Amino acid sequence: MRKRRTQHEAPSNDEPQAPAERPTGGQPIEPRVRPAEDIPLSSLDQDALRVISRLQRQGFQAYLVGGCVRDLLLGRRPKDFDVATSAHPRQVKRSFANGRIIGKRFKLVHVAYGDHVIETATFRRAPPPREEEPDDLLITDDNEFGNAEEDALRRDFTINALFLDPTRREILDYVGGLDDLDAGVLRTIGDPRVRMAEDPVRILRAIKFATRLGLRIDDDTWAAMIDTADELGRSAKPRVLEEILRLMRSGVALGAFRMMRACGALRVLLPQIDAHLGQRDDPDPAAHDRADEFWRLLEALDGDVHAGNNPATGVCVAVLFLRLIERAAGVDPRNHDQAGPELARAASELLEPFALGVRLSRRDTGKAIRAILQQRRFTQPLSKRFRPLLFARGEDFRESLDLFRLRSMAWGQGWDVYESWVQRYQEAQGASTDDVERERKRKRRRGRRRGKRAETAEPPAEA
Ligand code: ATP
Ligand code: MG
Repeated sequence: MRKRRTQHEAPSNDEPQAPAERPTGGQPIEPRVRPAEDIPLSSLDQDALRVISRLQRQGFQAYLVGGCVRDLLLGRRPKDFDVATSAHPRQVKRSFANGRIIGKRFKLVHVAYGDHVIETATFRRAPPPREEEPDDLLITDDNEFGNAEEDALRRDFTINALFLDPTRREILDYVGGLDDLDAGVLRTIGDPRVRMAEDPVRILRAIKFATRLGLRIDDDTWAAMIDTADELGRSAKPRVLEEILRLMRSGVALGAFRMMRACGALRVLLPQIDAHLGQRDDPDPAAHDRADEFWRLLEALDGDVHAGNNPATGVCVAVLFLRLIERAAGVDPRNHDQAGPELARAASELLEPFALGVRLSRRDTGKAIRAILQQRRFTQPLSKRFRPLLFARGEDFRESLDLFRLRSMAWGQGWDVYESWVQRYQEAQGASTDDVERERKRKRRRGRRRGKRAETAEPPAEA
């Protein structure tokens, strides 16, 4: 268990803090300022502009910051618009009747316009090293107020630390982010080894930004990712899981997982899968086949995301473990009909330890396992015993069907079967409760008859 830091609690009052030590040796850095006229005001969020202009009128500094500035400069539409300000949370709250302070330690203000929320955060600085373990760089708390420069320096990558002042139409750059954006380079702010050790999840964030935005990872940053990959095991599990799922839903999962494998993150986070893929340049052709199957499934997942689908957590996890589990149970990728009880055993043996390790919910674990086990149903011949209506109305049907679609794309077969199930699914949604009840009764009746046959040792009519 990691010790929690206690000596750097959030300041309890709204008094400004003394600035943190500068990596430049005490001299304040003047930001580089670049006009931002090419960013049209209409591309900015009007509610965020309202928050900024009110804070600025009251004499505070207030800027757009982080991902939205980066995305605007890249000509992409930002997901959300975050505001950073010199005003302390209570001062922000006082300025906005629609503002609400959230968070216990890391306090932010949510300024709500209807159900649209502008996250407004006070400038923060990087925490000093922990006194009890000065060599341990892992940040366990990040909660001291600072100034704009310090706020830029505590961020992860140079391209994520730009401020946009919409009133003056200027970009403020304390860290060289503009040059890196122009050059298409992803680089940590400061020493990459220190920054990765402080928070190893930044390894996954680097992969996310590099693949999503088509950036090259700077050589030193990449070397630090390789050197610190082992430390990922120390990061908070829910954060790690969240980043893995984000990578899977990014539409560039194939590239992201190749990068995770190349820097060692896959070995640390998903050791069974890394081993399943074999060594690089493995002379064993079976290893090559296993890797090929895995990459094909991720490629199918990317295609699916580009087609507008957002894979559920259970589906993402099922994609990761599908072939590992099937192979352990001796099931051919294209033929699920042979799946027997070994598949269920392999699924829980392989997937449950992973789920426990990353604190995947029981619900999603169950969904992932059932999606894999139910694949055989899609190609199972229709018989009196199998009731497609009940299957298609079942709780896990959507996940199972999504996984079947991904398999069909990856193996290049079964698309017609997939479409017939989409139709059955639609029919099942429109089925009356009477229809459903009738099917249930039939199933129960057959179940009872089978039970009787078993008592009289009569062999079953269907295997
Ligand atoms: P996205 O478009 O995926 O939301 P983003 O850059 O906005 O990208 P967020 O996770 O929303 O990413 O974080 C907002 C900002 O907070 C980042 O741009 C970065 O400046 C800072 N940040 C987030 N996570 C970290 C971290 N682990 N270490 C340092 N700074 C971080
Ligand atoms: Mg964001």
